[in-house]
This record gives sequence, structure tokens and C-alpha cells, in this order.
Amino acid sequence: MSCYKKILTYIVPSIIISSIFIVLVFSEAHATYVKRHTTLMGTDVEIVVVENKSKEFINKSINLAISEMKRLEKEMSEWTKDSQVYAIDSQAGKRPVRVSQELFHVISSAIKISELSDGAFDISWAALRGLWNFTNGKKYVPSPEQIHKRLKLVNYKNIILDKTHQTVFLKNKGMAIGLGGIAKGYIVDMAMQVLVNNGINNAIIKAGGDMRVEGTKNSRPWRISIRHPRDPNKSLGILYLSNISISTSGDYERFFMKNGIRYHHIINPETGYPAKGVMSVTILAPDTMTSDALSTTVFVLGPEKGLKLIEMLPGIEGIIVDAKGTPHYSPGIIKSMGHS
Ligand code: ADP
Ligand code: MG
Repeated sequence: MSCYKKILTYIVPSIIISSIFIVLVFSEAHATYVKRHTTLMGTDVEIVVVENKSKEFINKSINLAISEMKRLEKEMSEWTKDSQVYAIDSQAGKRPVRVSQELFHVISSAIKISELSDGAFDISWAALRGLWNFTNGKKYVPSPEQIHKRLKLVNYKNIILDKTHQTVFLKNKGMAIGLGGIAKGYIVDMAMQVLVNNGINNAIIKAGGDMRVEGTKNSRPWRISIRHPRDPNKSLGILYLSNISISTSGDYERFFMKNGIRYHHIINPETGYPAKGVMSVTILAPDTMTSDALSTTVFVLGPEKGLKLIEMLPGIEGIIVDAKGTPHYSPGIIKSMGHS
């Protein structure tokens, strides 16, 4: 009798453990993997979902997330004539413009980051917009006089926000704002919110250099490789991430070379010329709007001041690749890194 008891004490738990194991394997085997590519906001967008739901359901949810991105792109783009940003720019020096709550939120957040960085991040950089063009292939470098004239119009302190009336006013004629350094991150956050509201908690949304990493991939953190700015096949490290955002700003996405000088799209608001001293910046943050804006900010600040800002801000980590190609890691980012 006691012999049977002994056998039972071994057999019963092992049956329970193995059935739990079978259930886990079974549920993983049923996680559906869907990957979708599209072009939005002038960049490549990739959405990956790994979830225990049908392919049809996941695809429908992705469609909703893409619609949300299109809606916000229309609202926040400085190019489309019926956008709210276009309205703010065209009323510069004339009158305040009432905007949506979400646009007001993005512009206020941009100004907070300007204050944090002493103007290294400044959405009013856009007064220089017509002078620089990194995509039309013309390789035009404006003269110091041209820059000097427009630079007077660049100052975030002249963007006047009225919270009660939800208005934005650019104080001086000729001023403009451009949300290229922050809106994409916000839009990625909102698109992920659509997926989460549909019960999809394990997904990645990547728009150019901005990425939201939600949940896990088959119960493990997502594995993200950070590319070297000069060699796409070389990795600066592998990060294992979950419920976090990651953005990279680089001098290799939109740029032209002239007389051996690289002119790229991240402008130092102090000089009016492309920021020097950095090849790329990768930032980890609790949300994508923040990681997007801070990657641009730290790029302008450079390695030394940039690392100081990262270390000063709770929940922010980063990697800065300096002009020589040497990576600098914030102490906390090492924790997310694995060796490959
Ligand atoms: P990407 O758009 O490739 O993700 P970034 O997030 O680094 O790159 O943003 C670069 C964009 O930000 C530029 O194309 C421009 O629209 C805008 N920008 C450039 N310089 C600044 C700056 N100093 N402050 C705020 N925005 C900037
Ligand atoms: Mg950015």
C-alpha cells in the first residue's frame, strides 16, 4: 500500500508538470505571426504581431492602427495644406490658431524638451526649412548670410501656447514649426494604443528609426539589434526589450555629401547648420514620442552633454556614436544588452 502511495506522490506531480508544459507549448504553437510593411510619414513602417488570435482578427486590427497613423499624419504634417501645422505656420506673426488636443499635447511636449535641452531641440528650426533640402539631390549649401537671416526666427520661446483656448501662436512673421523630430514617435504610440485596445499586447510598430516594443515574442523579450551608423551589417549590441520605446537618429538617413562634408537633416538651432560631433544616437524611453524627440536632442547636444542629459532623466538610456565611430553607452543600457 505504502509503495503505491510513494509511486503516486511521484507520478501525480509529474503528470501535472508535464501537462502545464504541454499547455504552454501548445499555446505558443498557436501564436499567430503577422508582419506588415507599408509607407507612411515619408518612411518605411513595419508592424509585427505575435498573438494568440486569428490572422483575420490581427489583420483587421493592423488596418485600424494604420488608419490611425494616416489620420494623425494628415493633422501633424507641415506639408499638406489642410493640416493644422500648416495653419499655424501660415498665421505666424498674425494670430493664434486653435488646434486639436493631441496636437497641443505634442507641441507642449516639444517645448518641454526644448527647455530641458536649452534649445538643442527646437521645432521652430523650421524657419530654415526652405534653405536646406536633403532629398531633392541638389546638394545646395546655403550661405552664412542666408542662414543668419533665418536663424533670428528660430526660438522656441516665441511659440506662445494658450492652454485655456488650446491655441498656438508664432510670435514673428516668417516663423514656422516642423514636427519631424517628434510627431512620428507620438503617432507610433497612438497606433500601438489601437492594437492594445483591440486586445493585441504583443507587437512591434517601427516607423523609420522610431519603434514601440509591446509585450513579448512567444513569452520572451523582443530581440532588437542596433546597427552601426556606417556599417549596416555591424551591430552595436543586441537589446532584449519589452514594453518600451526605442528611437535612433542618424546622419545616414537624409543627407548629401559635398566637398567631403556630410550635410544631414538634424540641425543645430544655434548655428543653423547640421549638428556636428555625432554619427548616431539611440534612445530608450517609456514612450516613443519621448524617445523620438530625445534622440534628435542628444544628437544636437553631442556625446558629452548628451550623456549628461540621458543620465539626468529617469527612465532614459542611450547609445551615442561619436564622430570617430566610437559608441558611448549610458550605464543603465548595459542591463538590456545581451552578447551575441
Ligand atoms: P527621423 O525623422 O529620420 O526619425 P529624427 O527623429 O532625428 O529623424 O528627426 C529629424 C527631423 O527633425 C528632421 O528631418 C527635421 O524635421 C527635424 N529637426 C531637425 N533638427 C531639429 C532640431 N534641432 N529640433 C527639432 N527638430 C529638428
Ligand atoms: Mg527623433
